[in-house]
Amino acid sequence: MKKKIVIANWKMNPATSMEANKIFESVAKSVSRIKKTEVVICPPYIFLDKLSKIRTSKVKLGCQDAFWGDVGPYTGEVSGEMLYNVGVGYAILGHSERRAQGETNDQINKKVKAAIASGLVPILCVGERERDESHKYFETVKTQVRECLNGVSRSSLYKVIIAYEPVWALSSTVNRRDATPVDASEMAMFIRKVLSDITSPDIASDVRILYGGSVNERDVEEFFVNGGVDGVLVGKASLDPKKFTEIINICEALKN
Ligand code: PEP
Repeated sequence: MKKKIVIANWKMNPATSMEANKIFESVAKSVSRIKKTEVVICPPYIFLDKLSKIRTSKVKLGCQDAFWGDVGPYTGEVSGEMLYNVGVGYAILGHSERRAQGETNDQINKKVKAAIASGLVPILCVGERERDESHKYFETVKTQVRECLNGVSRSSLYKVIIAYEPVWALSSTVNRRDATPVDASEMAMFIRKVLSDITSPDIASDVRILYGGSVNERDVEEFFVNGGVDGVLVGKASLDPKKFTEIINICEALKN
Protein backbone atom coordinates (compact mmCIF):
# COMPACT_ATOMS: atom_id res chain seq x y z
CA MET A 1 0.00 0.00 0.00
CA LYS A 2 1.18 3.52 -0.80
CA LYS A 3 2.36 5.38 2.28
CA LYS A 4 0.63 8.72 2.84
CA ILE A 5 2.98 11.67 2.67
CA VAL A 6 2.98 15.14 4.21
CA ILE A 7 5.47 17.58 2.71
CA ALA A 8 6.44 21.03 4.01
CA ASN A 9 7.43 23.75 1.58
CA TRP A 10 9.08 26.43 3.70
CA LYS A 11 9.64 28.63 0.63
CA MET A 12 12.06 31.51 1.50
CA ASN A 13 11.56 31.13 5.27
CA PRO A 14 12.66 31.44 8.05
CA ALA A 15 15.22 34.24 8.24
CA THR A 16 17.80 32.50 10.43
CA SER A 17 19.42 29.12 10.79
CA MET A 18 18.52 29.12 14.48
CA GLU A 19 14.81 29.45 13.68
CA ALA A 20 15.07 26.73 11.03
CA ASN A 21 16.63 24.35 13.56
CA LYS A 22 13.96 25.18 16.11
CA ILE A 23 11.06 24.40 13.76
CA PHE A 24 12.67 21.24 12.39
CA GLU A 25 13.62 19.89 15.84
CA SER A 26 10.20 20.63 17.22
CA VAL A 27 8.46 18.71 14.40
CA ALA A 28 10.97 15.83 14.61
CA LYS A 29 10.37 15.50 18.36
CA SER A 30 6.58 15.60 18.09
CA VAL A 31 6.34 12.97 15.36
CA SER A 32 8.89 10.52 16.71
CA ARG A 33 6.22 7.81 17.09
CA ILE A 34 4.51 8.01 13.73
CA LYS A 35 4.50 4.82 11.67
CA LYS A 36 2.23 5.23 8.66
CA THR A 37 3.06 8.71 7.41
CA GLU A 38 6.09 9.85 5.45
CA VAL A 39 7.13 13.37 6.45
CA VAL A 40 9.39 15.59 4.33
CA ILE A 41 10.54 19.13 5.08
CA CYS A 42 11.86 21.26 2.22
CA PRO A 43 13.75 24.26 3.63
CA PRO A 44 15.85 26.78 1.68
CA TYR A 45 19.20 25.36 0.46
CA ILE A 46 21.21 27.30 3.00
CA PHE A 47 19.78 25.37 5.96
CA LEU A 48 20.02 21.88 4.47
CA ASP A 49 23.47 20.89 5.65
CA LYS A 50 22.81 21.85 9.27
CA LEU A 51 19.36 20.28 9.36
CA SER A 52 20.73 17.05 7.92
CA LYS A 53 22.75 16.64 11.14
CA ILE A 54 19.64 16.55 13.34
CA ARG A 55 19.01 12.95 14.25
CA THR A 56 15.56 11.74 13.23
CA SER A 57 14.36 8.75 11.32
CA LYS A 58 10.88 10.21 10.83
CA VAL A 59 11.49 13.52 9.08
CA LYS A 60 13.24 13.48 5.73
CA LEU A 61 14.83 16.38 3.92
CA GLY A 62 13.79 17.81 0.58
CA CYS A 63 14.78 20.87 -1.43
CA GLN A 64 12.73 23.40 -3.40
CA ASP A 65 14.54 23.07 -6.74
CA ALA A 66 17.50 21.15 -8.21
CA PHE A 67 19.37 22.07 -11.37
CA TRP A 68 19.84 19.60 -14.22
CA GLY A 69 23.58 20.11 -14.84
CA ASP A 70 26.42 18.31 -13.09
CA VAL A 71 29.33 20.34 -11.70
CA GLY A 72 30.20 23.15 -14.07
CA PRO A 73 29.63 26.73 -15.13
CA TYR A 74 26.10 27.28 -13.76
CA THR A 75 26.30 30.35 -11.54
CA GLY A 76 23.85 30.26 -8.68
CA GLU A 77 22.59 26.74 -9.35
CA VAL A 78 22.75 23.64 -7.14
CA SER A 79 22.81 20.15 -8.64
CA GLY A 80 20.90 17.04 -7.64
CA GLU A 81 24.16 15.27 -6.86
CA MET A 82 25.24 18.03 -4.44
CA LEU A 83 21.87 17.87 -2.73
CA TYR A 84 21.89 14.09 -2.52
CA ASN A 85 25.36 14.30 -0.97
CA VAL A 86 24.11 16.46 1.92
CA GLY A 87 21.31 14.03 2.71
CA VAL A 88 18.45 15.38 0.62
CA GLY A 89 16.01 12.75 -0.65
CA TYR A 90 13.28 14.76 -2.40
CA ALA A 91 13.14 17.78 -4.72
CA ILE A 92 10.15 20.04 -5.33
CA LEU A 93 10.29 20.85 -9.05
CA GLY A 94 8.18 23.15 -11.19
CA HIS A 95 6.58 25.06 -8.34
CA SER A 96 4.21 27.77 -9.63
CA GLU A 97 6.32 30.47 -7.98
CA ARG A 98 9.27 29.35 -10.14
CA ARG A 99 7.08 28.97 -13.22
CA ALA A 100 5.97 32.59 -12.62
CA GLN A 101 9.63 33.58 -12.97
CA GLY A 102 9.76 31.97 -16.39
CA GLU A 103 10.55 28.31 -15.72
CA THR A 104 9.18 26.21 -18.60
CA ASN A 105 7.89 22.64 -18.84
CA ASP A 106 10.98 21.83 -20.89
CA GLN A 107 13.35 23.07 -18.17
CA ILE A 108 11.34 21.25 -15.50
CA ASN A 109 11.53 18.07 -17.57
CA LYS A 110 15.34 18.26 -17.58
CA LYS A 111 15.31 18.80 -13.83
CA VAL A 112 12.98 15.82 -13.24
CA LYS A 113 15.25 13.49 -15.21
CA ALA A 114 18.42 14.81 -13.54
CA ALA A 115 16.85 14.54 -10.07
CA ILE A 116 15.97 10.89 -10.68
CA ALA A 117 19.49 10.20 -11.98
CA SER A 118 20.91 11.74 -8.79
CA GLY A 119 18.77 9.56 -6.53
CA LEU A 120 16.23 12.25 -5.58
CA VAL A 121 12.47 11.73 -5.61
CA PRO A 122 10.95 14.51 -7.72
CA ILE A 123 7.86 16.24 -6.35
CA LEU A 124 6.49 17.64 -9.59
CA CYS A 125 4.14 20.58 -9.05
CA VAL A 126 1.37 21.17 -11.57
CA GLY A 127 -1.72 23.35 -11.50
CA GLU A 128 -3.62 26.01 -13.36
CA ARG A 129 -3.41 29.70 -12.51
CA GLU A 130 -7.14 30.25 -13.04
CA ARG A 131 -10.26 28.17 -13.69
CA ASP A 132 -12.37 28.92 -16.73
CA GLU A 133 -15.89 27.84 -17.54
CA SER A 134 -14.82 25.85 -20.57
CA HIS A 135 -12.63 23.63 -18.34
CA LYS A 136 -9.45 24.43 -20.27
CA TYR A 137 -7.55 24.00 -17.00
CA PHE A 138 -7.67 20.24 -17.48
CA GLU A 139 -5.75 20.72 -20.75
CA THR A 140 -3.21 22.97 -18.97
CA VAL A 141 -2.52 20.34 -16.33
CA LYS A 142 -2.39 17.56 -18.92
CA THR A 143 0.26 19.47 -20.90
CA GLN A 144 2.27 20.12 -17.74
CA VAL A 145 2.23 16.44 -16.76
CA ARG A 146 3.04 15.17 -20.25
CA GLU A 147 5.80 17.69 -21.02
CA CYS A 148 7.44 17.60 -17.59
CA LEU A 149 7.55 13.78 -17.62
CA ASN A 150 8.45 13.41 -21.28
CA GLY A 151 11.12 10.74 -21.72
CA VAL A 152 11.10 9.60 -18.07
CA SER A 153 11.47 5.83 -18.20
CA ARG A 154 8.58 3.63 -17.14
CA SER A 155 10.81 2.10 -14.46
CA SER A 156 11.36 5.55 -12.89
CA LEU A 157 7.89 7.01 -13.26
CA TYR A 158 6.37 5.28 -10.27
CA LYS A 159 8.89 7.09 -8.02
CA VAL A 160 7.67 10.54 -9.08
CA ILE A 161 5.27 12.35 -6.76
CA ILE A 162 2.85 14.79 -8.37
CA ALA A 163 1.51 17.73 -6.38
CA TYR A 164 -1.61 19.35 -7.78
CA GLU A 165 -1.48 22.97 -6.65
CA PRO A 166 -4.11 25.26 -8.17
CA VAL A 167 -2.42 28.66 -8.03
CA TRP A 168 -5.74 30.40 -7.25
CA ALA A 169 -5.94 28.49 -3.96
CA LEU A 170 -2.39 29.10 -2.65
CA SER A 171 -2.18 31.18 0.50
CA SER A 172 0.17 33.62 -1.26
CA THR A 173 -2.29 34.39 -4.08
CA VAL A 174 -4.03 37.77 -3.83
CA ASN A 175 -7.83 37.31 -3.72
CA ARG A 176 -7.33 33.56 -3.36
CA ARG A 177 -10.27 31.15 -3.20
CA ASP A 178 -10.57 27.88 -1.33
CA ALA A 179 -10.34 24.73 -3.43
CA THR A 180 -12.65 21.94 -2.32
CA PRO A 181 -11.85 18.25 -1.82
CA VAL A 182 -14.01 17.66 -4.92
CA ASP A 183 -11.74 19.97 -6.97
CA ALA A 184 -8.74 17.98 -5.74
CA SER A 185 -10.37 14.62 -6.30
CA GLU A 186 -11.46 15.42 -9.88
CA MET A 187 -7.97 16.59 -10.78
CA ALA A 188 -6.25 13.65 -9.04
CA MET A 189 -8.40 11.28 -11.08
CA PHE A 190 -7.67 13.20 -14.26
CA ILE A 191 -3.89 13.21 -13.60
CA ARG A 192 -3.98 9.45 -13.00
CA LYS A 193 -5.71 8.99 -16.35
CA VAL A 194 -3.05 11.13 -18.07
CA LEU A 195 -0.35 9.02 -16.39
CA SER A 196 -2.10 5.85 -17.40
CA ASP A 197 -2.09 7.01 -21.03
CA ILE A 198 1.65 7.68 -21.01
CA THR A 199 2.59 4.56 -19.02
CA SER A 200 0.19 1.86 -17.87
CA PRO A 201 -2.69 1.71 -15.39
CA ASP A 202 -0.45 -0.22 -12.95
CA ILE A 203 2.31 2.37 -12.90
CA ALA A 204 -0.21 5.21 -12.84
CA SER A 205 -1.89 3.78 -9.77
CA ASP A 206 1.46 3.59 -7.93
CA VAL A 207 2.24 7.28 -8.40
CA ARG A 208 1.40 9.37 -5.37
CA ILE A 209 -0.73 12.42 -6.14
CA LEU A 210 -0.89 15.20 -3.57
CA TYR A 211 -2.97 18.32 -3.07
CA GLY A 212 -1.45 21.67 -2.10
CA GLY A 213 -3.10 25.05 -1.60
CA SER A 214 -3.58 26.61 1.86
CA VAL A 215 -3.94 23.20 3.52
CA ASN A 216 -4.28 23.59 7.27
CA GLU A 217 -5.05 21.56 10.37
CA ARG A 218 -8.80 22.23 9.98
CA ASP A 219 -9.31 21.06 6.40
CA VAL A 220 -6.61 18.44 5.88
CA GLU A 221 -8.78 15.50 6.93
CA GLU A 222 -11.40 16.45 4.31
CA PHE A 223 -8.73 16.50 1.61
CA PHE A 224 -7.62 13.01 2.61
CA VAL A 225 -11.08 11.53 3.04
CA ASN A 226 -12.88 13.15 0.09
CA GLY A 227 -10.02 14.56 -1.99
CA GLY A 228 -8.75 11.23 -3.31
CA VAL A 229 -5.12 12.22 -2.67
CA ASP A 230 -2.16 10.34 -1.22
CA GLY A 231 -0.76 13.31 0.62
CA VAL A 232 -0.53 17.05 0.99
CA LEU A 233 2.01 19.75 0.23
CA VAL A 234 1.82 22.41 2.91
CA GLY A 235 3.25 25.92 2.63
CA LYS A 236 2.31 28.55 5.21
CA ALA A 237 1.01 26.16 7.88
CA SER A 238 4.25 24.15 7.78
CA LEU A 239 6.19 27.01 9.36
CA ASP A 240 4.21 26.61 12.56
CA PRO A 241 5.45 23.37 14.14
CA LYS A 242 2.24 22.97 16.16
CA LYS A 243 -0.02 23.23 13.12
CA PHE A 244 2.25 21.11 10.95
CA THR A 245 2.44 18.38 13.61
CA GLU A 246 -1.33 18.44 13.90
CA ILE A 247 -1.62 17.93 10.13
CA ILE A 248 0.77 14.95 10.34
CA ASN A 249 -1.12 13.46 13.28
CA ILE A 250 -4.45 13.77 11.45
CA CYS A 251 -2.93 11.94 8.51
CA GLU A 252 -1.47 9.27 10.81
CA ALA A 253 -4.87 8.68 12.44
CA LEU A 254 -6.64 7.99 9.12
CA LYS A 255 -8.04 4.49 8.71
CA ASN A 256 -6.02 3.78 5.55
C1 PEP B 1 2.82 25.97 -1.84
O1 PEP B 1 2.99 27.09 -2.33
O2 PEP B 1 3.49 24.97 -2.23
C2 PEP B 1 1.82 25.81 -0.79
C3 PEP B 1 1.35 24.62 -0.54
O3 PEP B 1 1.49 26.97 -0.15
P1 PEP B 1 0.28 27.29 0.87
O4 PEP B 1 -0.01 26.04 1.66
O5 PEP B 1 0.83 28.37 1.73
O6 PEP B 1 -0.86 27.69 0.03
